[in-house]
Amino acid sequence: RQHMARGLPKQKPITGVKQVIVVASGKGGVGKSTTAVNLALGLTANDPSKSVGLLDADVYGPSIPKLMNLKGNPELTDNNLMRPLVNFGIPCMSMGFLVEDVAPIVWRGLMVMSAIEKLLRQVDWGLLDYLVIDMPPGTGDVQLSITQNIPIAGAVIVSTPQDIALLDARRGAEMFRKVNVPVLGLIQNMSVFQCPQCNHQTHIFGADGARELAQTLGVEVLGDIPLHLKIRETSDKGQPVVVSSPDSPEAEAYRKAASAV
Ligand code: ADP
Repeated sequence: RQHMARGLPKQKPITGVKQVIVVASGKGGVGKSTTAVNLALGLTANDPSKSVGLLDADVYGPSIPKLMNLKGNPELTDNNLMRPLVNFGIPCMSMGFLVEDVAPIVWRGLMVMSAIEKLLRQVDWGLLDYLVIDMPPGTGDVQLSITQNIPIAGAVIVSTPQDIALLDARRGAEMFRKVNVPVLGLIQNMSVFQCPQCNHQTHIFGADGARELAQTLGVEVLGDIPLHLKIRETSDKGQPVVVSSPDSPEAEAYRKAASAV
């Protein structure tokens, strides 16, 4: 009733899904997808009784298939819904399952909207406590359309401490505010590099940018993820660090962020 009063189009929940959490970033390459994957895994690691799904809404550059080590075409249910592919106990859906591997995805605006509509409405998730949505980077029509179509419990914004990324993150936060999606907080990624040889710590992108931005926006910093070789390597192998090295400090950082969501 609230959003109708504000003149937004009617939002319809995704069948079977209790809470939608979107993971967003102002720009690409800041670690949004890596964070979305490890957050989803962190949510079930923290509480195995919770069922968590992962939706890759980055139709331009879907990376969930690689990060979750999944490929293939989803089967259809009797109701013509797509059955998610599952790995590490997490049902996943991505445009990457529906198009050829190497084909560049050249989309027209309308095709993007119908692809998003398909991903939001034609998937049989079963029952989920959380659906984590890996959003496309930035603040365009696709992001807006998702926020207007489904009720969203909250948005998590991933940013590096670098000024330009922070500026974009701020734009993202403002977009969510405008459409009445609560911003749960920021996750600062790649804030510190610890040398695997000598353990010296270097703040490659500056130390506390995200913290300062969070203060300005009046939101929390939900997590602080170091720039770590293991995170990049495990991502490339499709063995996310939360499952492949659960005892590492990197995995711990993601689980801690998940518990703050
Ligand atoms: P985005 O979704 O924002 O475009 P990705 O999650 O694809 O970003 O990450 C971009 C690259 O950075 C990937 O190669 C990923 O493995 C790497 N990466 C992300 N976060 C970290 C981190 N904390 N430490 C090391 N590498 C990272």
